[in-house]
Amino acid sequence: MSCYWADVHTHSVFSADGHDTMGALAEAAVCAGLSALCITDHYDTWSSFDPGPHHTAFEEAHAAVSGRLALLRGVELGEGHTLGARAEALLASGPFDFVLGSCHCVHGKPDFYDMPRMDRAACLALIAEYLAEVLAMVRWGRFDVLGHLTYPLRYMVGRDGAAVDFSPFHDELRALFRAVVEGGHGLEVNVSNLRKPGGFPMPDLPLLTLYRACGGEIVTVGSDAHRTGEVGAHIREGYALLREAGFQRVAVYENRRPVWHPLR
Ligand SMILES: [Zn+2]
Ligand SMILES: [Zn+2]
Repeated sequence: MSCYWADVHTHSVFSADGHDTMGALAEAAVCAGLSALCITDHYDTWSSFDPGPHHTAFEEAHAAVSGRLALLRGVELGEGHTLGARAEALLASGPFDFVLGSCHCVHGKPDFYDMPRMDRAACLALIAEYLAEVLAMVRWGRFDVLGHLTYPLRYMVGRDGAAVDFSPFHDELRALFRAVVEGGHGLEVNVSNLRKPGGFPMPDLPLLTLYRACGGEIVTVGSDAHRTGEVGAHIREGYALLREAGFQRVAVYENRRPVWHPLR
C-alpha cells in the first residue's frame, strides 16, 4: 500500500463557504498523515478572493509547515470559460501549482445546489446542457484538471433521490474525455460525497473506466474539504477506486505540471 497521500481539493476562508484558515487546514493535513495538501479556493462569477491577501496567507501557511507537509497553491476556477480577463488576471497574479476547472451550473441558471427538485426528464435535459457547458470549458482549457464531473448527481440523486445517472450520455462523455486528453488535462475523483451515508464518488467507476479507455492517464483525488475535520477524508478510498479502474499512478500538480506517485 502507498504511504503517500495527497488531498488536492480543499477550501479555506478565502472561499465564501470555507470555515478555516489555510494554516489550520495545513495543520489538519499533517495530523491526518497527508504528504501533500493543495488549497483550491473558489474563484468564479459568484465568489472570488483578493489575490494579494490570498497569496500572503498562503506564503505564511507554507512557511509554518515547511518540512512537514508539501503545501500547494491552487484554485478552483468555476465556469472559467465565462470569466474572460478576470481568469487571466488571477492566473497571472501568482505562481499557482494547480488549477481545477469546475462547472457548478449551466450558464444563466443557478448552481445545482440551488436548483429545485426535478423529474427525471428535466434532470436528463439539464445534464445534457451541463455536459455541453463542460465541453466548452474544456475547449477553453486554461485549467489543469476537470473537477467533480458528476456534480449535478450530488443534488439530483444524493439529495433529491432522482433515478438518473450519466449512462444515457455515453457519446457525449467519450467526446468530452477525448477533449480532456487532447488538451493535456486530467480528471478529478472527488470523494466529498463519501462523507454522506450512501454517497458516491464523482465520477464513479464506470466513468473512470471510460475515461481510461479514451486514453485518460492523469487523475487526481480531492476531498473538497470546507473545514479542518474534512481534510484528507476518504482519500484512501479514492486511490483504491483508481486502482480498481486500472490506473497505476496518481498526479499531484506542482508548478502546473503533474508529478506522479505510484498507486500501490
Ligand atoms: Zn466545486
Ligand atoms: Zn471545491
